[in-house]
Amino acid sequence: MKTYARLFIDGRWVVPAKSGTFETIDPSSEQVIADVAAATAEDVDLAVKAARKAFDEGPWPRMSGAERAAVLRRIGKGIRERLQELAEIEVRDNGKPLPEALWDVGDAAGCFEFYASLAEQLDESAEAPVNLPDDRFSSIARKEPVGVAGAIIPWNFPLLMAAWKVAPALAAGCTMVLKPSELTPLSALELADIAAAAELPAGALNVLTGLGKDAGAPLAEHPLVDKLAFTGSVPTGSRIMQAAARDIKNVSLELGGKSPFIVFDDSDVDAAVEWIMFGIFWNQGEVCSATSRVLVQRKIYEQVLERLKEQTQKLTIGNGLQEGVLLGPLISKGHFQKVHEAVKRGATEGARLLVGGSRPAHLDKGYFMEPVVFADVPLDSWIWNEEIFGPVVCIRPFDDEAEAVREANDTRFGLGAAVMSRDNARCDRVARALRAGIVWVNCSQPTFTEAPWGGYKQSGIGRELGEWGLNNYLETKQITRYDSDKPWGWYIK
Ligand code: NAD
Repeated sequence: MKTYARLFIDGRWVVPAKSGTFETIDPSSEQVIADVAAATAEDVDLAVKAARKAFDEGPWPRMSGAERAAVLRRIGKGIRERLQELAEIEVRDNGKPLPEALWDVGDAAGCFEFYASLAEQLDESAEAPVNLPDDRFSSIARKEPVGVAGAIIPWNFPLLMAAWKVAPALAAGCTMVLKPSELTPLSALELADIAAAAELPAGALNVLTGLGKDAGAPLAEHPLVDKLAFTGSVPTGSRIMQAAARDIKNVSLELGGKSPFIVFDDSDVDAAVEWIMFGIFWNQGEVCSATSRVLVQRKIYEQVLERLKEQTQKLTIGNGLQEGVLLGPLISKGHFQKVHEAVKRGATEGARLLVGGSRPAHLDKGYFMEPVVFADVPLDSWIWNEEIFGPVVCIRPFDDEAEAVREANDTRFGLGAAVMSRDNARCDRVARALRAGIVWVNCSQPTFTEAPWGGYKQSGIGRELGEWGLNNYLETKQITRYDSDKPWGWYIK
C-alpha cells in the first residue's frame, strides 16, 4: 500500500515530529485506506517558518507573473495527467460517485490554468496610476502578495477546495501552508507531489495532514501567518476568526448554508425536479451551497412532489466506483448518525416524510442512506433552518412572489439561492432581492472558476474564484511621489 505517513515541508517529505499517524477510511466499505501523517504544533511551526523564509527570501514572490504562471500550468498539466487516478483516490477517500470526482479533478486542473492566466496579467495590471487632485504629486496603486497564507479546507471537495486556495495564493506570489481535512487527506498529499514535480520552489507550498485541533488550530494561531483562508463549518470558522483577530490577520471564510430554491408555477415540472435533485443530491448533499430549502408555488406543488418522489426513488446508490451510481455514502460514521438524527427530528416536527431516510436494503456496509424528501416543512422547524449537509431536501408551498422572497431570505445564512420561472423579468427581480452571494436562475449549483464565490451573513467573508479569488491574496500599496521642484515650505519658509 502507498504510504501517506509523511508531511510535505520545505520541499521535502518528512516524518511528523511526534511520528503520529491517523487512519483515513473508505466510507463505502468502512475499511481503512491508509495511515496518514498526523501533524502537531511542532510540524506547523516548521512548515510556517519554511513558508515564511520562502516568502521573505525565496524566489517565488520575486518571479514575474509569467514565470509563476509556467509553474501553475505545469501543476494543472500534472493533475490532468493523473486525472483518473486522482479521481479514484477522491472516490475512495470521500465516497462521491466517480463521474463527480472526475469533474472535480478536471476543475481543479482548470483552476490552476485559470490562475496561471491571471498571474500573467498581473505583470501588466499590478500597478495602476491613481489620479490626484494636486499636480505636485503622482501616485500609483500596486498589488503585492499578502505573504504567508494558511489554508484549512473541508472534506466535501478535497482536491478542488485545495485548488481554490492554492492556485490563487501561488498566482499572487504568496507562499502557503495547506491543511486538508483529516477525513479526506490523500489528494492534498498527491497535490504536493505534483507541485514538486512542477518545480515549485521549496517552501512555497507545504502540506500538513492532521486533526483540526492538533494541526488546524496551531496554524490559525501561528504569528508568522499573514492570512487565513478557511472553508468548513460556522463554529470552526468563528474560531479561525478569533485566532485571526488576535494578530489582525487577513481572513476569508467560506462557511455553511441553507440555500433556498424558489420554483414558480410557470416552470416546466421536469426541469424543476431535475434541478431540485441536482441542487441537493449531487455530492450526497454534502455541499455548502446545496439548495436544501425549496419553495414551490402552490399550483404545481403536488405535481412537483409526486415527480420528485418518483425520480428520487430511482437514484442508484452504491460504491462511487461502480458504474451508474449517482449517490455515494455519507463521509463518516459520525456524519451518517448526525444526518439520521436530523431526519428523525424532521419527522417529529410536523414535516411530511415523502421518501427516503433508510439504509438501502442492498448495502449492509458503508454510510449509505436513501435520499430524503420532506414536504410541508414548517417554517419554524429545525430541519427548515439548520444545515443538515446530507441528501435531505425540505419543501413547502408558497402563494406569491413577496412571500417566497421573504421566506427565502429568512435565514442566518446567505451562500446560495436559486429561482426558476419562464418569466425573465420575475427571475431578474427575485435574483436581485435574494440576500445571497450566489444566485442561480433556472438551475442550481453549476460553478465556474471565473465567477465570484462566497456568502452573505453567516455564510462567510470574502470571495473566492475569479479575479476576486486572486484579490483575496493581494495587498494594495500606494506609492506616492512628490514631483515638484519647489520646497514643501511648511516649516522651512
Ligand atoms: P469543520 O469546520 O470541523 O472542519 C473543516 C476543517 O477545519 C478541517 O480541515 C478541520 O480539520 C479543521 N478544523 C477543525 N477544528 C479546527 C480548529 N479548532 N482550528 C482549526 N482548524 C480546525 O467541518 P467538518 O467537521 O469537516 O464538517 C462539519 C460541518 O461543517 C458540516 O456538517 C457542514 O455543516 C460544514 N461544512 C461546510 C463546508 C463548506 O464547504 N462550506 C464543507 C464541509 C463542512
